[in-house]
Amino acid sequence: MSDSKIWLSSPHMGGNEQRFVQEAFDTNWVAPLGPNVTGFEKDLELYLGEGVYAAALSSGTAALHLALILLGVTSGDEVICQSMTFSASANPIVYLGARPVFIDSEQETMNLDPVFLKDAILDGISRGKKPKAIVLVHLYGMPCKIDAIRALANEYQIPVVEDSAEALGSSYKGRKCGTFGDISILSFNGNKIITTSGGGALVTRSAAQKDKAVFLSTQARDHAPHYQHSEIGYNYRMSNICAGIGRGQMEVLDEHMALRRAMHQFYVALFSEIEGVTVFSEPNTDFYSNHWLSCILLDPARTGGITREDLRLALEKENIESRPLWKPMHLQPVFSDCAFFGSNVSENLFTNGLCLPSGSNLTDKERERIAKVIHTLFNR
Ligand SMILES: *Cc1c(COP(=O)(O)O)cnc(C)c1O
Repeated sequence: MSDSKIWLSSPHMGGNEQRFVQEAFDTNWVAPLGPNVTGFEKDLELYLGEGVYAAALSSGTAALHLALILLGVTSGDEVICQSMTFSASANPIVYLGARPVFIDSEQETMNLDPVFLKDAILDGISRGKKPKAIVLVHLYGMPCKIDAIRALANEYQIPVVEDSAEALGSSYKGRKCGTFGDISILSFNGNKIITTSGGGALVTRSAAQKDKAVFLSTQARDHAPHYQHSEIGYNYRMSNICAGIGRGQMEVLDEHMALRRAMHQFYVALFSEIEGVTVFSEPNTDFYSNHWLSCILLDPARTGGITREDLRLALEKENIESRPLWKPMHLQPVFSDCAFFGSNVSENLFTNGLCLPSGSNLTDKERERIAKVIHTLFNR
């Protein structure tokens, strides 16, 4: 345990972050507004393209909460949500007194299965409870089956919230993730592909919707010299200090994505001759993942009985962090009374899947340490 810890995904500064933060101090913009907030939003809008508008917020979770509010989700509504995801995709549904309806994953992208999605929509309609929104996720940076899901959303006129927290830089048929939702969200938490130490963004298709998001995120203050409120507000705006980190991070996003994708290739090569281990990869060239996290799936029947837990513990012993895939929400105690449409795909992915160290800042020496554990365990 004398070697330093290898993290799953750690912050990786580009160099100019401190310059933007220093500027904020020099000009005394130490507040949840200022030139870095505006500049960071511009950077995001230019990067995503498609004429979108971005509102910088305090977290991805806050962005999801506001997205659902903007779509009119209220108490008693039902909202469809991918089951296999981080709990933050689903929690804001409950904040609003609405009920999540969870959907299984398909095997190819590990995301929302359009077949079960259709079942859930038809079931809701048959009970007079058409879902108010669909929350889809691009897990680990892998775009979901957007065409099929959008087709259903359009057919039944249900708005889509695109949880692109893990997929900044990813694209589907050449178009960036974060531009496919009626409203989309991004996260800049410490472990994401870029970080502002903590933060998020809401991405909309209209300036009016962005303005509404900013209004709600700054306590919903009416136009008046005094403090007057006609709506319930939130304190969800991003700090100008954090946004300065974000501006520096945007300068190195593509470079860091290339390094994450190289980590994925490293694992593809490492496991190419190990029986029973699949490195999770794009199903075809329509999909382009940022490979935020590299994931593998083990088939113990073909690994000689080695499970993902065996590998996780072997890595942990050498001070290397790895983590099981997201435990599906329909298996979480807190959501045990929620509806679920699907079979056992996400459950099996959770049982047999492992996320491996994927940072853009890993060194050759660290890669050697990882390879050594894997070669030793699989006896090669
Ligand atoms: C990280 C994450 C979020 C939440 O973002 P925060 O900025 O941490 O609030 C939401 N959904 C998914 C899929 C995430 O990975």
